Amino acid sequence: MTAELISGKELSESIREGIKKDVESLKEKDINPHITVVLIGNDPASLSYVKGKEKAAAKLGMSSEVIRLDEKTEEKELIDLVDELNKNDEVHGILVQLPLPDHMDEQVIVEKIDPKKDVDGFHPLNVGRMMLGQETLLPCTPFGVMKMLESKDIIIEGKNAVIVGSSNIVGKPMGQLLLAKEATVTNCHIKTKDLKAYTKMADILVVAAGKAHLINDEHVKEGAVVIDVGINRLEDGTMTGDVDFEKVKDKVSYISPVPGGVGPMTITMLLYNTVLACKRIENIDE
Ligand code: NAP
Repeated sequence: MTAELISGKELSESIREGIKKDVESLKEKDINPHITVVLIGNDPASLSYVKGKEKAAAKLGMSSEVIRLDEKTEEKELIDLVDELNKNDEVHGILVQLPLPDHMDEQVIVEKIDPKKDVDGFHPLNVGRMMLGQETLLPCTPFGVMKMLESKDIIIEGKNAVIVGSSNIVGKPMGQLLLAKEATVTNCHIKTKDLKAYTKMADILVVAAGKAHLINDEHVKEGAVVIDVGINRLEDGTMTGDVDFEKVKDKVSYISPVPGGVGPMTITMLLYNTVLACKRIENIDE
């Protein structure tokens, strides 16, 4: 293997050490950073993500609570709960686990969350602030990817950054964060004609399409930096990314694995955002 591995697992551990210290020093001031996660229904993937978040928070001594609501809960009931959490001074971070059941409008719910407590960074006010380069809470997955690039001192300025994927939670904000660091950014999507022509131009390639092994050695430029956001379950139950790691690893300079890449970073940045939100709400220097 010629590429250097960007291990989100290792980087997460070091960032979590810092968060743990922050939590301890806040507790010395009698401030207890707290995240409340709201989970509606029984979607197994959501359940597993929520459990992972709860476990990670506990490890850092951070207070967390999961409120579980029935699949058939009325939208109004969820809105009332979010209102209550907004007003609760002991809650610093609110996360409503997506996707929501079909009878609920995700955008309506996200907009009800107090932007100061929106640790997912999905509220339109926070999205707009990110675009303008203002103080905000950044969406956890692209934020985690930026930390991964930073950890290896990868120069972004002036580079061609290509993102495969243009979703509101990963692809679009990823493009904005790379643009803010002065990369020349291209966001690809399902209607992109000749995907390979774009990915081959990438100095930095971030893949977030949700298609197992969409990207192989023919799609990448020699020496590129490749970050794989994708999480796909194969028929045999194994987890794999959107990049064919084995084929790509000998051609590129850096590559992130799946699992052990972006996944752990997403949870880490959620906990980071919770402490950040707590400090801002409690007027503690960041
Ligand atoms: P999404 O909402 O389904 O968006 C996928 C994006 O990829 C869309 O913009 C889609 O285009 C584009 N796309 C799909 N197939 C493509 C193709 N063949 N060529 C070019 N573009 C294509 O998914 P998401 O929420 O952004 O997540 C993407 C992947 O990342 C998923 O595997 C998800 O599980 C994973 N993920 C991982 C983490 C983590 O922590 N590691 C966090 C979030 C998501 P259109 O917009 O035109 O349909």
